Amino acid sequence: MLDADFFRRWMTVTAASVDREAERLTALDSPIGDADHGSNLQRGFAAVRAALEKEPPATPGAVLIQSGRLLISTVGGASGPLYGTLLRRTGKALGDATEVGERELAEALRAGVDAVMQLGGAAAGDKTMVDALLPAVDALGDSFAAARTAAEEGAVATTPLRARKGRASYLGERSVGHQDPGATSAALLIAGLVDAAS
Ligand code: ADP
Ligand code: MG
Ligand code: MG
Repeated sequence: MLDADFFRRWMTVTAASVDREAERLTALDSPIGDADHGSNLQRGFAAVRAALEKEPPATPGAVLIQSGRLLISTVGGASGPLYGTLLRRTGKALGDATEVGERELAEALRAGVDAVMQLGGAAAGDKTMVDALLPAVDALGDSFAAARTAAEEGAVATTPLRARKGRASYLGERSVGHQDPGATSAALLIAGLVDAAS
């Protein structure tokens, strides 16, 4: 079973990997965006980490709802409301249980990804974070490690795609040949599950 501590670790290890990869995320956002994805997420997850240290919520759902709210209020840019919605909706789906099973987390995360798709209007293959999140949710029924692999492969597979949503879509055909920054950060978030569990 996964308790509030697990979810706090998930958020703090994600904050650490976002810190570590911030330059790379911003570099990926340079040719097909406005070169701010790394700094956007760094600011957001720093706020998440600080709030979790100061006032740790007592349930898995509350950890994710608080974290999502903070991402929405601190990240300028498209990714803030999208990641914020992902975490908030996932947290809501977990309810007020003090412990949740891996299957419940997989179902809740699917509701979160559905909410991201509804908010942003992106479908699979549009070269967005959805291309890492959807395969991850599908693989989550097997294991966290399988979800991490699926998310990483999904992120890499955005390279030949033409962007249909977000800033990169303004480039049309010229967005082809670049890995999507948001799919890359989504893979970091999913990889955080593996680290939080070990
Ligand atoms: P901005 O584009 O506003 O500067 P970021 O650089 O922080 O925001 O985030 C860009 C990432 O957000 C993209 O790489 C993409 O994965 C994701 N994104 C943008 N628009 C959408 C959308 N409509 N649906 C899903 N993801 C999106
Ligand atoms: Mg950007
Ligand atoms: Mg921006």
